[in-house]
Amino acid sequence: MSVRVRYAPSPTGLQHLGSVRTFLFDYFFARAMGGKFLLRIEDTDQSRYNDESLQDLYDTLNWLGIEWDEGPDRDGGYGPYIQSQRLDHYKKYAEKLIEEGKAYRCFCTPERMEQLREEQKESKQDYGYDRHCRHLSPGETQRLLDEGTPYVVRLKIPDEGEVSFHDEILGDISRLVKDISPDPVMLKSDGFPTYHLACVVDDHLMEITHVFRGQEWIPSTPLHIIMYEAFGWEPPKFCHLPLIMGQDGKKLSKRHGSTFAREFRLMGYLPEAMVNYIVMLGWSFDDTREFFSHDELTELFSLEKISKSPAVFDYKKLEWFNGQYIRQADPERIQSLYIPLMVAEGILSDPPTEGELQLIKDSYGLVQERLKVINDAPGLLRFLFQDVEYADVDQAVPKKMDREGTKTVLKGCLDVLSGFEGRTDEENEELFRQRAEELEVKLGQVLQPLRVALTGTTVSPPMFESIRLLGEAKTVERVNRLLALL
Ligand code: GLU
Ligand code: ZN
Repeated sequence: MSVRVRYAPSPTGLQHLGSVRTFLFDYFFARAMGGKFLLRIEDTDQSRYNDESLQDLYDTLNWLGIEWDEGPDRDGGYGPYIQSQRLDHYKKYAEKLIEEGKAYRCFCTPERMEQLREEQKESKQDYGYDRHCRHLSPGETQRLLDEGTPYVVRLKIPDEGEVSFHDEILGDISRLVKDISPDPVMLKSDGFPTYHLACVVDDHLMEITHVFRGQEWIPSTPLHIIMYEAFGWEPPKFCHLPLIMGQDGKKLSKRHGSTFAREFRLMGYLPEAMVNYIVMLGWSFDDTREFFSHDELTELFSLEKISKSPAVFDYKKLEWFNGQYIRQADPERIQSLYIPLMVAEGILSDPPTEGELQLIKDSYGLVQERLKVINDAPGLLRFLFQDVEYADVDQAVPKKMDREGTKTVLKGCLDVLSGFEGRTDEENEELFRQRAEELEVKLGQVLQPLRVALTGTTVSPPMFESIRLLGEAKTVERVNRLLALL
């Protein structure tokens, strides 16, 4: 039987790193096995539905270059792929269970349920349905139906015993039936299914062979197994994915940093770096290799190499990965990613002039080795396009020096700067070195004020290349401006 996997998001929130990891595993597993990857929208909780999260889902999949074979816009013969359009299926299967005596209608009013909850709270019992309607006589049920009383459909959970299933990653898992909340709702009074019914019915009808989802779903799986048994269906293989933690060993959350895919997109991470890094959260090829292209993953990904133990999300490592991918990327592509940012910040004209675009090209060497994320580029390049403001002139003053000394150094730079462009970097460096010696300061103490004059900051791209790109005249002008302020 050929592999069919599904990613089944509920459009109730933005895609986070855990969701991305799930769909990447779905997708690469399907590709590696020559199977199909389905996208199914689980929108049965209408109260929590929001359009923004649906848009975010598509934006995230598209950004990361993940294509589905079947889904709302791509019928593969198993549609519709949006659960709110499949209500007749859920109704049909809920009724089948009732007919076979495996489920029943519950007419309990919200008031009765509320009272039950209160009583259980007072007597410190766990909250759970008391199975009141499980024993209604057929006559009583018919009377309530005739009166049009609203009802839900509940599944009969056996009184005792154990449910077991084999998880492809974690091995055998068993739960005592008494730990499963008694007789859970399958179909709500408005005709919408609960997650459990919709998920089991759809995974069966869509012939899903493997279910990948986070370990937080393990508590639902025993119930799903009971449902598969009740229907007489064979369950898919379950693959519960390890947790993603921060470096402190706690579940990854906002406290650790960004957790939504969209945030990383807006910060200027490259999709291929994200895909590579996130796939490594719980999967490895061997113990050493770290870099994998999309195409390589479609061949190499395997279920056997998914780990049981939690994965640690390391923001620094991701940043490093991203940097590596930027260095390897086509320069024009990287420039085309930061040009719009520079236009938006008013650093470049809208649209950029020929001259500006030429300078963007020429200055690529300044940033290529330095970018961690695309969004660093405007800050690194701004000084080439705009006059700098010296908000804090004391930044120009090196340690163990004062403003007077700094001025002397800057003045000393002026005549070294003249003729700069006609000399090689080595010759220029030698001249600056000599000047530092004459002034009895270190080379660094000469370069720091010069760097601030040039860029307004103490951190900047390589100095000599920067001077060349900015031009001798503008450099001298900036040194004079800073001198006047000191
Ligand atoms: N709709 C569920 C979710 O939001 C799907 C869980 C599952 O994969 O079964 O994650
Ligand atoms: Zn009831």
